[in-house]
Amino acid sequence: MLEPRGALPQAAWRLDNTPVPSADELLCDVETLNIDSASFHQIAEACAHDPERIGEHIRANVRERGKQHNPVTGSGGMFVGRVEAIGAEFPSGTLAVGDRMASLVSLTLTPLWIDAVTHVDVATGRVGVRGKAILFASGLFAAMPADIPTDVALATLDVAGAPAQVRRLVRPGDTVVVIGADGKSGLLSCAHARDRVGPSGRVVGIVPDARTEAARILVAEGYVDALVEVDARDVLAVLAKIPDVLPVLADVVINCVNVGGTELASILLARDEGTVYFFSMATSFTAAALGAEGVGKDVTMIVGNGYAKGHAEIALQTLRDHPPLAAYFARRYAPAEAAP
Ligand code: NAP
Repeated sequence: MLEPRGALPQAAWRLDNTPVPSADELLCDVETLNIDSASFHQIAEACAHDPERIGEHIRANVRERGKQHNPVTGSGGMFVGRVEAIGAEFPSGTLAVGDRMASLVSLTLTPLWIDAVTHVDVATGRVGVRGKAILFASGLFAAMPADIPTDVALATLDVAGAPAQVRRLVRPGDTVVVIGADGKSGLLSCAHARDRVGPSGRVVGIVPDARTEAARILVAEGYVDALVEVDARDVLAVLAKIPDVLPVLADVVINCVNVGGTELASILLARDEGTVYFFSMATSFTAAALGAEGVGKDVTMIVGNGYAKGHAEIALQTLRDHPPLAAYFARRYAPAEAAP
């Protein structure tokens, strides 16, 4: 059952979430949902950051829609679980029943059934559940890496599209601004941008609070050449602070925030005919398009496609290549697994 009839799963209001796979589907026993950051931020605000209310909110949403598709932000997240059954026609490769896997397609198109919410981690947006999910034959997935803690891999795979796109967009010698530089996608993006721009380029990070551990790592490990503490929603404050560290406007601006209202700052930080990559799910298409028009800025704006070829491996490899990032992700996203 699908509502409205004829809609494809992402666009549908409601999916049939009966946990029985067809021949070309895979059934997964779901352990954890990684709710995407813009969505979790919105839900947490609506529920006064109360774990029980957040859990009930997510259950109610899944009951109503058959998937975790936040009607306010339009975004979802991804899941980790164990393979329970593989349809005869599902292209599972080497994946076998009992294997741990992560979905690489959005929860907004994944039929999901939740029996219980067991845990809500308000700090990271991770939600423990007892439930089932269906993966379609076209659904991307990744086997969980043996050398990276599960919760770290989950946090990384959720934002895998960003580092892969940064590698494509950034050229040697470029000036790059990363907004929301101290979040998951921001950190991975800064590491790749710094690597791509080389000695003649410059990477500037924008964070709301420069005293966080992640902000300090960005500076200490040289992932940014400069860090600016400013609320990216406050365009005038951004314009006042940025000239100190950004002598020329950016060739590429990467927006990794989890709140709305940062489109114009992103556009104004890009040079004429520069590129703005909106990875953030809190981006408004109209605010970006009309904002650029309003300030007469001819920039290329790129929607943050969650998928890029090889994105999962690129994202995970970032942690292997950058031990300080791997250690930070472990402390923040898998404290229990990281403990000796
Ligand atoms: P995250 O780890 O929560 O990071 C978001 C960052 O934005 C945080 O460092 C946050 O700082 C910062 N921030 C918040 N408000 C800000 C402001 N006013 N000014 C400057 N920085 C601000 O999020 P993430 O998981 O990396 O995800 C980033 C975005 O990508 C979210 O919108 C998420 O929904 C989206 N996303 C997109 C895709 C895709 O396929 N395109 C996939 C997954 C996620 P504080 O922590 O200090 O508040």
